[in-house]
Amino acid sequence: MMETRIVKAEQGLDEAVSIIKSGGLVVFPTETVYGLGADALNPQAVKAIFEAKGRPQDNPLIVHISDVEQVGEIAVDVPHVFYELAKKFMPGALTVVLPKSDKIPDVVTAGGNTVAVRMPDNVVARELIARSSPLAAPSANRSKHVSPTTAQHVYDDLCGRVPLILDGGPCGVGIESTVLDLTCDCPTILRPGAVTPAMLAEVLGEVLENGKVIKIAKSPGMKYEHYAPVVTTVAAQSVQSAVECYDRAVREGKHPALVFRDIYRDVTQDRDIVSLGVTVDDYMRNIYAALRRAEKDFDFIIVEMMDGDGIAKSVMNRVMKAAGGKTV
Ligand code: AMP
Ligand code: MG
Repeated sequence: MMETRIVKAEQGLDEAVSIIKSGGLVVFPTETVYGLGADALNPQAVKAIFEAKGRPQDNPLIVHISDVEQVGEIAVDVPHVFYELAKKFMPGALTVVLPKSDKIPDVVTAGGNTVAVRMPDNVVARELIARSSPLAAPSANRSKHVSPTTAQHVYDDLCGRVPLILDGGPCGVGIESTVLDLTCDCPTILRPGAVTPAMLAEVLGEVLENGKVIKIAKSPGMKYEHYAPVVTTVAAQSVQSAVECYDRAVREGKHPALVFRDIYRDVTQDRDIVSLGVTVDDYMRNIYAALRRAEKDFDFIIVEMMDGDGIAKSVMNRVMKAAGGKTV
């Protein structure tokens, strides 16, 4: 089996550049989640991403760029509004879908004629791209498992499958980017994220959060149940129902955990809790690490549901996937 090393991002940069240039895989830090990167212009290299992750071939990858102008290499007919969005959200947690250039191999886009583009807000990641190539990269987890927000999460999933993990510390945002499709008549959100509809509407005037049928047709990856822990997970509509569910599980001989923010301590009391912090931003940053901790130490996970629009809604999108839609 291949040896997998975790190296501090700055120190591993030179080696990472040469691995990418020779067609290999490198895990790199971004502000959303860790990415499993390969040269986006090299179809053999990109194929290895799917093998390492166990990812279905019909789930397209995001291409990461280091500079707004680089979009001209990978996309064609780039609309003016892309540059407007770039001014505000690039680098950042926004991925934009554009018509693809011939340079991008089919394996990147799952055979489609559009390509997803993002500029990550991590200096080492951008340096790696600038010195090698645009990087096709999905999240650096095994397919269908919880996305990784630390180098150790990546190691737990991909040890023996990748040579090098660049460690940039815990991810600041914590969930995957917002995906926005600019190839339809009205800009359409295909996946919610930290860049919210309200933030986009400020630039675009209006934006659609599309209906289910269109979403599946335009964004093939979304039919898969992503982000799921390996033990049964449910989402709790109230702290009261969570506590009742917890106590029932204990009576049934299970070993449950409440994945909750600390603001409910007076109700959750001395039950086992994996903390999500206090604020909505804390919740977003901590959710994947908390799910990974909980699945290691417990056999049943009960996650707090949050009300509200914007970021709370984006985070609930991931939580409902983790729970496979199950609520209590
Ligand atoms: P991941 O990097 O694992 O978060 O997966 C990337 C996701 O971005 C895919 O599952 C798709 O939902 C979306 N995506 C990537 N490329 C495209 C594209 N060309 N059109 C629509 N959605 C895309
Ligand atoms: Mg993923």
